[in-house]
Amino acid sequence: MAEKCNPYENMLCNLDAAAQKLGYSLDEYISLRYPERELIVSVPVKMDDGSVKVFKGYRVQHSSSRGPCKGGIRYHQDVDLDEVRALAAWMTWKCAVVNIPYGGAKGGIQVDPTQLSLGELERLTRRYTSMILPILGPEKDIPAPDVNTNAQVMGWIMDTYSMFKGYAVPGVVTGKPLEVGGSLGRPEATGRGVMFTVVELAKRLGWDLKGLKIAVQGFGNVGSVAAKLLKDKGCKIVAISDVSCGLYNPDGIDIDRVLEYKADSPNCLIKGYTEEGISTITNKQLLTMDVDVLIPSALENQIDAEIARELKAKVVVEAANGPTTTEGDKILNERNIPVVPDILANAGGVVVSYFEWVQNNQMFMWDEEKINSMLERVMIEAFDGVWSMHQREKVTLRMAAYMVALDRVIKAKKIRGIFP
Ligand code: GLU
Repeated sequence: MAEKCNPYENMLCNLDAAAQKLGYSLDEYISLRYPERELIVSVPVKMDDGSVKVFKGYRVQHSSSRGPCKGGIRYHQDVDLDEVRALAAWMTWKCAVVNIPYGGAKGGIQVDPTQLSLGELERLTRRYTSMILPILGPEKDIPAPDVNTNAQVMGWIMDTYSMFKGYAVPGVVTGKPLEVGGSLGRPEATGRGVMFTVVELAKRLGWDLKGLKIAVQGFGNVGSVAAKLLKDKGCKIVAISDVSCGLYNPDGIDIDRVLEYKADSPNCLIKGYTEEGISTITNKQLLTMDVDVLIPSALENQIDAEIARELKAKVVVEAANGPTTTEGDKILNERNIPVVPDILANAGGVVVSYFEWVQNNQMFMWDEEKINSMLERVMIEAFDGVWSMHQREKVTLRMAAYMVALDRVIKAKKIRGIFP
């Protein structure tokens, strides 16, 4: 029977285990088992052919204990409430692991955006924004890009919110185009953070980056940047994939050439790319390839029990949110394959979102060098904190990351107390 994967249930298992390990009583953390606020909206859109379609949209705010809620918005046909809830909670832990003053939120619309024209996409985005507007704001809840949303979508969100307010409010959303208050370095930030994570991990394991064999599942904004930056560090990216196909070259794929190819291909996909020594592979072949590092950078639930049993990578670095199921995680632990969890490995995006928001609030702009070096510092500090907890408590890296995060959130909750 296929493994049942309710991502929110998976999140709760980790939350309970980390709280118990830290010695907290249920009363001290029970409210974190529930999202603070959930909004479900039905979003009508006038389609280009004159018909009207209604899409389901969500915004879930998991916690605001440490600051305004923060998290992306995704457009995908499989979006549902449990997924958005889990993603919102993971944002709470992610912001706490890297110690930025935010809580966690997430939004999504159940839609296949590839089926919409640009005009339909804009109308969908603006109507959705207007329907969740009462709970948004630079001090309340700040969206950002996620799966299938980009800087242009953030620009529409910023404009819609600003139109209602009557003045420009760039700090209501991050990941915007530079022209409307976006930050240098934000588009590459998640992939860059993944690169820093691999570098730190390699240091701890005594590995040389030169020739390190890496497979990357997902060649979107996160996977492609991580692959490029790791290749620049001397690693050999032997396998990559996206929704269109998987590619394998034992001598290392020429990532710069793939990026050029992808930029010119109609749907920004890698299918059809060729070079000497390259062959196509399936998704399963990529996930079970004999490499040093496997970087899942696509969607949730990719490494299930079956894949985990056959996985040959020496370590897994989770660039996607929730790519490993609970069963898969158990098996990888039993097999002593370290997993750097999503809430640490992919936190680079929200860290630079935070820098963007600070710049917006100050009406100021920093240069890219400053942003990248501040990102590096935050990622290294977070990695250090998680690694120390992992060594000291003899727990997995995932448990260590949850423990670091949870401790910070629970302490903040305690100081604030329960209103009234
Ligand atoms: N969607 C990204 C994530 O899952 C970025 C969130 C943000 O920048 O707020 O971490």
